Amino acid sequence: MDLSDLPRFELALLPTPVQPLPRLSDELGVKLSVKRDDLTGLAFGGNKTRKLDLLVAQARRQGADTLVTVGAEQSNHCRQTAAAAARAGLACTLVLHGSDPGRAQGNVLLDRMLGAHIVWADDRRLDLVQNEMVAALEARGRKPYAIPYGGSNSYGAAAYAQAMKELLESGHIPERIVLASSSGGTQAGLLLGAALYGFRGRVTGISVDPGAEELSGVIDGLIRSAVTTFDLEVGSIGTVEVVDDYLGEGYAIVGDRERNALRVAAREEGLLLDPVYTGRAFGGMMGMIREGRIGLGERVLFWHTGGTPALFAYGEEVLSRTDTSS
Ligand SMILES: *Cc1c(COP(=O)(O)O)cnc(C)c1O
Repeated sequence: MDLSDLPRFELALLPTPVQPLPRLSDELGVKLSVKRDDLTGLAFGGNKTRKLDLLVAQARRQGADTLVTVGAEQSNHCRQTAAAAARAGLACTLVLHGSDPGRAQGNVLLDRMLGAHIVWADDRRLDLVQNEMVAALEARGRKPYAIPYGGSNSYGAAAYAQAMKELLESGHIPERIVLASSSGGTQAGLLLGAALYGFRGRVTGISVDPGAEELSGVIDGLIRSAVTTFDLEVGSIGTVEVVDDYLGEGYAIVGDRERNALRVAAREEGLLLDPVYTGRAFGGMMGMIREGRIGLGERVLFWHTGGTPALFAYGEEVLSRTDTSS
């Protein structure tokens, strides 16, 4: 089928802009631009909104009355799902890792404002708790629709294949796309879109969490499942390029690399990155340029996947010592 025939709920404001970053380009020695998917428009935006366009349309077709999804405490995916549910007139249950932090900050504040029911999973496996919630809702006669971690399934990937088409139609065609990669749906979709619509550049995913081998396998699986689900005719898929050299102290731990990237983007371009995903990916991209793994003068497009509300949950951690003392 043609992916543009998939029904959409139209949550995202598209196309998102592509913006040149002239000051950072001079500083880093590459021709850098940014695709602003932090501006998708739904409750502070982000990459999950494109995926939810397709997922919510499916939920409605199936007669669902509740969206059930999972994520980290400061999950951007969960916040966008809560907002999508509100827009669609559906209830929303979020299964979040950990325990109730007490004061609602950042994305948790927004989850609550948007009316989501939050279930704290402590250390239990999120998918198992999600299955329990789905079963409990069904037992009460409700019609839940389960969305996987990060919205990454065939529909999530299809949304980013369409985003690649959008980029190509905008005429801003880079030699390389760099993005933060975690549950893999975004990168899988971009690679699928590259094969479907003829993008010949590289797609470099900077892992925020999993090792390169694991994440490449996940991305590969997502591409295959989208090809099967939507009966797509594609030629060969480009290399799944995942870089796992910038994991620092682990998921959602802000280190010097992230702090420096946040600071440089903010101070040189007035561009806000997030502490968990885009800060790490941008810092990793700067590392790759410094190490010669991205060539000087290359046309690089950084795909901004959102996440900025998490800034308000990380307070002082995003400021360096010099920022706090001045
Ligand atoms: C979810 C998320 C990502 C990662 O996207 P995946 O499709 O899960 O790989 C990157 N950046 C931000 C801000 C996110 O919320």
